Amino acid sequence: MKNSELWTRREKAIPRGVGTMHQRFAAKAKNAELWDVEGNRYIDFATGIAVNNTGHSDPRIVDAVKEQLDNFSHTCFQVNPYESYIELAEKLNEAAPGNSPKKSIFLTTGAEAVENAVKIARVATGRSGIIAFKGGFHGRTMMGMALTGKVAPYKVGFGPFPTDVYHVPFPIAYHGITEEDSLNALDNLFKADIDPARVAAIILEPVQGEGGFYAASPAFMKSLRDTCDQHGILLICDEIQTGFARTGKMFATEYSGVEPDLMTVAKAMAGGFPISAVVGKADVMDAAAPGGLGGTYGGSPLGCVAGLKVMEIIEQDNLCERAVEIGELFKSRLLRLKGNGLNAIGEIRNLGAMIAMELVQDGDADRPDAALTANIVRAAADKGLILLSCGVRGNVIRFLPALTASDDVLNEGLDILEQVFRDQAA
Ligand code: PMP
Repeated sequence: MKNSELWTRREKAIPRGVGTMHQRFAAKAKNAELWDVEGNRYIDFATGIAVNNTGHSDPRIVDAVKEQLDNFSHTCFQVNPYESYIELAEKLNEAAPGNSPKKSIFLTTGAEAVENAVKIARVATGRSGIIAFKGGFHGRTMMGMALTGKVAPYKVGFGPFPTDVYHVPFPIAYHGITEEDSLNALDNLFKADIDPARVAAIILEPVQGEGGFYAASPAFMKSLRDTCDQHGILLICDEIQTGFARTGKMFATEYSGVEPDLMTVAKAMAGGFPISAVVGKADVMDAAAPGGLGGTYGGSPLGCVAGLKVMEIIEQDNLCERAVEIGELFKSRLLRLKGNGLNAIGEIRNLGAMIAMELVQDGDADRPDAALTANIVRAAADKGLILLSCGVRGNVIRFLPALTASDDVLNEGLDILEQVFRDQAA
């Protein structure tokens, strides 16, 4: 089977609204490598959008899921519960930032976790307002879209969205938005748009993902925590892209020492099996009445056993430390590339192995180069490297390699990148 034949069938059978980054159909994937249906090999710096932090098909995860499959694949936790759900909740409650007792609920997708976090925040506070950040991404459901701070392509034509959602600027030094600007905007919002006593929650990604890989500083996180405490507002950290060792900590929020009231997780939590969670302070989590939360597939037993293995692997293989190492390796190589006179690279930034470079024209932060970004992603794939872009302006290349990848494979991928850069941006 040829990629091109499958692409023709895909175009006929599947709506164009499901965007596809690469016209290369996966046949097999192992750790940090992937092979398409024509037998071409790729180094994978995308990991299915920050999902396979533990690499593709780690045998420890595969074996756990196979064993579960031999017992049962589904009973619905709301009908016949099972131990793995409880065990995963216990582990996640333990791992979540802060010392307050925690509880967890499991769902299936990231967006669904966000929906539930908002439901829980509203029922716990008896308030409805939610504040999110410009450039943030929280999913494609109705509330997910309402919270997302990027119009195209996520929100165009899909409204109206749930109401009582507000956006303030996210601090991005590279684009001249200071933390003070963001906090002033929040203050203004309380004066001009919504009484803080009506705000249920502030939701943010500790490192904006789809928006362009911009990290909130510990000081900013602490300021938000203070504002929330002052007004009885809950703080929701969306760790769906940042979680599970990606940034060098189990959760990126740990860098600030802040304890969120609620945290959403998904993606890397089960190494490719669809499961997500809301973990939060026990009293807040208990606010919803029985039957108010859940879902048929929420906390699938396959996801639960995979999730338990992922947490074990992160510890056994020291993946937090490895994420920091990988971040350093990328940073030094990308800085060398930038130092070689390539002023298309405006900024290189990373928190652990959540690494990005922003591409601009003539070194000018205000002149994003989305065309070059797309060309590099395409040309890299031609040479056997899978990359992803992101950013509100479409001019950021993000690197999300498996944390289990060897230096050899990472350097091989970076060699390809270097070559592509020389061809495209010289
Ligand atoms: N929140 C964040 C921070 C995300 O990165 C994503 C996915 N990119 C989501 C929510 C939505 O997750 P899902 O696609 O699993 O619904």
